[in-house]
Amino acid sequence: MSEQSSPPGGVLVVGSANLDLVATTARHPSPGETLIGHDYSEHPGGKGLNQAVAAARAGSPTRFVGAVGRDDAGQTLTRVAAESGVDTSEIADVDASTGRALILVAESGENSIVVVPGANELCPVGTARDGEVVLAQLEVPLNTVESTFRTAREVGATTVLNPAPARPLPPELLELVDIIVPNEHELDLLGGVSSLLEKGVGTVVVTLGAEGARVHTRDGAVDIPTLSVDAVDTTGAGDTFCGYLASGLASGLPLENAARRGCLAAALSTTRSGAVPSIPTSAEVGGVSAF
Ligand code: ADP
Repeated sequence: MSEQSSPPGGVLVVGSANLDLVATTARHPSPGETLIGHDYSEHPGGKGLNQAVAAARAGSPTRFVGAVGRDDAGQTLTRVAAESGVDTSEIADVDASTGRALILVAESGENSIVVVPGANELCPVGTARDGEVVLAQLEVPLNTVESTFRTAREVGATTVLNPAPARPLPPELLELVDIIVPNEHELDLLGGVSSLLEKGVGTVVVTLGAEGARVHTRDGAVDIPTLSVDAVDTTGAGDTFCGYLASGLASGLPLENAARRGCLAAALSTTRSGAVPSIPTSAEVGGVSAF
């Protein structure tokens, strides 16, 4: 093992980091119209960053490969990841603006969102190490994900893809995926479980919101229950599930147990507001599973 190797059991997350800018207004403006808003906040986000924080809070040594601009937002996102214990040394500082999501929340509760990927378009390829679980999503270029998974296959690392936001995927990418983790909407767009298994994906773990998750292999399906909670904000629930699933697998848990832990952590995350602030620590998840 070279000096740079991480301990076995680590997670490598390759994906996006965004700053979410959230403004609240009475209603959505018409084209050309200016409205006065009454609330504004900024939150760290991006599926890659959220999932890296989840894997680190779950207790795994976690490396995050992503890209931010040379701006304040980039520094903020890197600091947030580091404060959760994520290894941020492979976040690239690139010549583009840090990714932003501009979110307008009307009093009706309806959101309109503009995502500007910026630096995320320049996300570098991750180099997997033996024994790692490699986790990616679709907010960075598909080529980056595919090349990362190729390096993972070369060293025998496990590849996990959260195909969000939903988009069709080429067969060359799907055949590099050991475990795919779609929600029901993403699963529909990808043609269903059988189609994914036929295309070479090893296991399909479908997240089902308040119904938990279902693990599908060629041998059949197993239902994974989740906690019954009073959900106040489901933002980041899927990301929490993915980070905890990857961490569980990296630490040697069987897939079903890792998915159970993912469900517990994700359910807890829905009882709190926001994405990053709502992701529980392993101590919180352990406390719940003891009941
Ligand atoms: P996404 O947020 O990506 O659409 P889901 O809605 O399927 O994904 O949620 C991911 C996971 O979060 C679920 O598998 C479940 O464990 C947990 N979860 C989400 N909503 C609830 C809820 N209302 N009650 C309990 N657990 C939930």
